[in-house]
Amino acid sequence: MKRIPVVLSCLVAFLGISTAGEARAQAAPPTTVIRAARMLDVKTGSIVPSASVVVTGGRIVAAGANVAVPSGANVIDLGNTTLMPGLIDSHTHLLQNYEGRFGSDDPNMVLTVAAMGTTKRALLGVAMGRQDLEAGITTVRDLGNSGWGGDVALRDAINSGWVDGPRIVASTRALAAAGGQFGGLAPEAQKLIEQEYVVISGVEDARRAVRQAFYDGADVIKVIVNTGPRVVSLEEMRVIVEEAHRVGKRVAAHTTTDQAARIAADAGVNSIEHGYSLPDDAIKTMHEKGIFLVPTDYPAEFYATALGTAATPEERASRLAAAKPFVTRSADRLTRAIKGGVKIAYGSDEYYDAPGKTRGQSSLLTLQAYQEAGMPMLEVIRAATINAAELLGIGDRVGAIETGRLADIIAVDGDPMKDAKDLQRVRFVMKAGKVIRNDAATRP
Ligand SMILES: [Zn+2]
Repeated sequence: MKRIPVVLSCLVAFLGISTAGEARAQAAPPTTVIRAARMLDVKTGSIVPSASVVVTGGRIVAAGANVAVPSGANVIDLGNTTLMPGLIDSHTHLLQNYEGRFGSDDPNMVLTVAAMGTTKRALLGVAMGRQDLEAGITTVRDLGNSGWGGDVALRDAINSGWVDGPRIVASTRALAAAGGQFGGLAPEAQKLIEQEYVVISGVEDARRAVRQAFYDGADVIKVIVNTGPRVVSLEEMRVIVEEAHRVGKRVAAHTTTDQAARIAADAGVNSIEHGYSLPDDAIKTMHEKGIFLVPTDYPAEFYATALGTAATPEERASRLAAAKPFVTRSADRLTRAIKGGVKIAYGSDEYYDAPGKTRGQSSLLTLQAYQEAGMPMLEVIRAATINAAELLGIGDRVGAIETGRLADIIAVDGDPMKDAKDLQRVRFVMKAGKVIRNDAATRP
């Protein structure tokens, strides 16, 4: 036992901390064994029958068929389910939950930033994060729209064990051209912008903004390359990438036009977010430079039902008709990107309140959109596991059920290799060895 100064030992006695705690800490951590009828190996695409995963100290120490159960282990039998790695959403906004009744993005953003403030938004993030985790999303990359420091506070609270939530890779405020993604604000209201974005103009501004983001606690840099006619230049993007890559960090670029996609790809970012409009030459550059596409797509019904609660059948039909060409175009660019050898990572970009669904459940609709666009289910699952883990720079720790990795494990009913909708029915969630939910053992 280390010598403890008198004052500290009084404090220890006062807090009731005894040497028993020390003895506990030295004992071997408890071992849990998870059993299920099947386990998906996301690397090979094979299904392992009669699977067991042995978890000690938050990590996987053995996994496979007919693995021996260590004596004294706590066994969780999940019956007729399929074990998979925890899902990874590479594009979240946990600190906002827009409501269709307030209109679209512009009024919602003003209300959120001006009326809620960062403190309350961080608490909203606790609720949204919990909903993601319970739906099987064990890691997220949260890409801005989180106030000034809100995402970092939530990340650190989760890491400290204050609240349960997904592991967070945080971007802090997104870098953007004038105005960020705010709609037209009156001059006296434009102070709101810096609560949500760092406006850059020129390469030295861009450099300063990246360094400020790291000072604020960013794990990754998010850039809004285009918003209306305001576009970050190639020179600015190159400096952003240079500053981030120098310290081993990555850059995520929001693009929705051909021009913005070309700027982001030429600058050598790590991922293009959305990329709704993606010319073939940008796809070629992405393939050559190993740039991921994060297609934040949704099935057509989502646009018809989730955005706005009071839709009449007529409104719903007209929204569905309006959404279909967009959904078809998105499916086409996803197919072209995959054909062009671009790596795909799953990202939902979900930030609207979806009636009847938790944040996690509505976020998983994106996987359904990938399948409906023609992506084979194994590739859909890889986008949400090993590919996303690689994009986030944590490919050695999460994304697969393998010895040595963190025990982020989910169980689903049915065969997730057939239908993405099965991924919306998660029965069991474990994050780093902690059971978050288990409906599999108790269901009739
Ligand atoms: Zn987004």
